[in-house]
Amino acid sequence: MKQATRWLKKKFIGIVSGSKADQATGSCAIPTPISIPRDEHNISRANISRNAVKVLYRLNSAGYQAYLVGGGVRDLLLGREPKDFDVATDASPEQVKSVFSNCRLIGRRFRLAHVHFGREIIEVATFRSNQESDQRGDRQLENGRILRDNVYGTLEEDAQRRDFTINALYYGVEDFSVIDYAGGIDDLKNGVIRLLGDPESRYREDPVRLLRAVRFAAKLGFVIEPATESPMRQLAALLQDVPAARLFEEVLKLFLAGAALETFEKLRHYDLFAQLFPATEEALTHEDHEFPITFVNRGLRNTDQRIQDNKPVTPAFLFAVLLWEPVRLRSDTLQASGTHPYEALQIAASEVLSEQAATVSIPKRFSYPMRDIWQLQSRFRQHNGKRPQRLQGHPRFRAAYDFLLLRAESGEVDQAEADWWTRFLERQPKGEQQQEEGQERQGRRRRRRRRKPKQPAATDE
Ligand code: ATP
Ligand code: MG
Repeated sequence: MKQATRWLKKKFIGIVSGSKADQATGSCAIPTPISIPRDEHNISRANISRNAVKVLYRLNSAGYQAYLVGGGVRDLLLGREPKDFDVATDASPEQVKSVFSNCRLIGRRFRLAHVHFGREIIEVATFRSNQESDQRGDRQLENGRILRDNVYGTLEEDAQRRDFTINALYYGVEDFSVIDYAGGIDDLKNGVIRLLGDPESRYREDPVRLLRAVRFAAKLGFVIEPATESPMRQLAALLQDVPAARLFEEVLKLFLAGAALETFEKLRHYDLFAQLFPATEEALTHEDHEFPITFVNRGLRNTDQRIQDNKPVTPAFLFAVLLWEPVRLRSDTLQASGTHPYEALQIAASEVLSEQAATVSIPKRFSYPMRDIWQLQSRFRQHNGKRPQRLQGHPRFRAAYDFLLLRAESGEVDQAEADWWTRFLERQPKGEQQQEEGQERQGRRRRRRRRKPKQPAATDE
């Protein structure tokens, strides 16, 4: 990152100056585009997905404009590996479909073409325009919020309706230059997150941009410039109007990009975390020897470390960490009034998950394993006979054990408890472990066959 910033400084000092005036005011009228030729930037086709390059060439040879845009260009310029590659074109989604046999059109609110290459999908978006006057309802706004955004436009117009200056950089394979309409190169060089246009109306148009500002600031280590930053706290409540399913996707992007801890702290700083996880925020304010805060912090640090070590991270574990505090506190309260611990945890989990669904809805394929991770915690206290081996055979044992380690680290359970399990696992011969896991799975399958099919809890989503 440092190296890339140095490269950007060396290359662009004095070349890019189009947005200086706008930087002072914070507003961003689209300045004259600046084209950075191939020998003055570091993007090489070798670093771009072969499939994305193929899409660019195929669209060009069918007579359309086509550019790589967004995170692909931004991250390559910074010397980082892009997460995915997005393409923008003047071809309509239907025209894109007619160029590629491996193409599917998706989305109603924002129509897009997905070009499939095995497991890789290249997302192709038609240039959008910000034009308000639309007779056919292709662009629909309600109280300033975009409900539908399918009015197509030119490259210039497309650059204007993107979110941040650093995301409005275009790379084409016709001459391999990078086109910068909005001073994005300057902002990349200076490490600045700046919304295009008037910040308040851009947030009102799409409140998810509040989360995107935080995501990019945390992931890239950039600062949010004052005009982009100033309305954030005040507009945080706009997130209530965003569908819970979309927020689920955004939460995954926020916390699974390798900077979860930094992101969490920034979200809290801008009062955004409370909009996403109200029960957790509430629990975090009831500090108990600073315990709640450290648990979530440690869990997120652990997530970042796993990503850095290329280990898998499951959304179920992440959400189990994020919601444990309210679940634990409610379960404690229920137990204090005489409810059996097992039942108390079940009730607490159902309540918290059902309330959570109002803001960020967690699909059942993740909420079921979350419940398992929570419910298995009490079984770690049982060390007698074959119980430890049976617990070890549970498909969620590993996640539950990692969860136990986190609870011990943050002082919620005795470290000796976690150490007992660590020693137990060290004593298990590998082959035997696998055999027992297999047996446990078979046993469970048999038990499940015997049982009547269970109705999923209505409160899960
Ligand atoms: P990532 O590395 O997470 O993929 P990205 O910038 O590519 O970052 P995407 O969600 O893939 O993010 O979106 C691709 C591009 O589409 C963005 O760079 C931006 O130009 C545009 N975009 C995405 N979401 C919005 C939005 N809510 N408002 C305006 N423009 C957006
Ligand atoms: Mg992207």
